[in-house]
Amino acid sequence: MPAHGHYGDLSPVRCREGEFELRCMDCAQGDHGAYWPLTLEFWNPRRGMQRCRACWTAKRRRDEHARRLANPASTRERNRAYALANREVLNLKRRARRAAAKGSSSDGRVSAAAG
Ligand SMILES: [Zn+2]
Repeated sequence: MPAHGHYGDLSPVRCREGEFELRCMDCAQGDHGAYWPLTLEFWNPRRGMQRCRACWTAKRRRDEHARRLANPASTRERNRAYALANREVLNLKRRARRAAAKGSSSDGRVSAAAG
């Protein structure tokens, strides 16, 4: 019995060493060996079983990036609104960060920055 059946490239599922594996449609674009074990580590059933977790994350990134590129003004607007709404907290955090940086750095960075 051959290890790879003649249907190998068509089947989204394969069995290897007694474990069932599913092919990720996105991974399969570039690599025929895009089979992942059918575990929650690799698949998120709530997202559907067309893409593995890594590819869902990548797709979300791509989509968000594309949305931001398509409408940069809305991102700027939202960032500005956030900065305005959280001015006090952001200022406190910034001050705390500066104080921490000043207090901890005893190398030549402070004098270089000041001079
Ligand atoms: Zn994938």
